[in-house]
Amino acid sequence: MNISEVITAVNSYTVKKMSSNLVNKNITDIEGILKKLILFYIREMESTYKNHSQFSRRKKLPYKLYLEHYHYIACIIGARFEKHGTIGTSQGFVDNYKTFGAVNSKLKLLGNVGARSPKKNKNGRFNIIGKCAEIKAAYQLNSKSKISQLKDIEFTNAYRPRTSQIIERCSTCKFVFGNV
Ligand SMILES: [Zn+2]
Repeated sequence: MNISEVITAVNSYTVKKMSSNLVNKNITDIEGILKKLILFYIREMESTYKNHSQFSRRKKLPYKLYLEHYHYIACIIGARFEKHGTIGTSQGFVDNYKTFGAVNSKLKLLGNVGARSPKKNKNGRFNIIGKCAEIKAAYQLNSKSKISQLKDIEFTNAYRPRTSQIIERCSTCKFVFGNV
């Protein structure tokens, strides 16, 4: 495995672990669990870094793993609908956006999934349409129980795992899910 494959594996493993066992929890509980998962995730990333670096030295591989900010999942959020809770991240894309009409029709008004959002965020950057953690969380919930009103989804704060900083909702998500 090369460096980016190792990082991708840790990220996907963590995402999978995060989304299980969140039935019958209220949104405050989900936020508490999310915060613990973020700490777990950071530890996993750091131990991957350490082990991989040792391995690289021993085998005299021509590279060393340096953890860069872009290796980490950028944003992570918890959400709840009816009895189901889930965790969504900005890692990757949903497999099929058409399975959730209420979200997909709104995203289409902004542009194609994978394209830059029409509006810049406060930090001066564009988001990628369909990549936000909120969108992933909503899709996961809809796959468990069909959602007709997007306003019925409850969200936790969104976090940047690397710093535990709370992230403000982006313009795309404000358009899709409303202001918070
Ligand atoms: Zn967003």
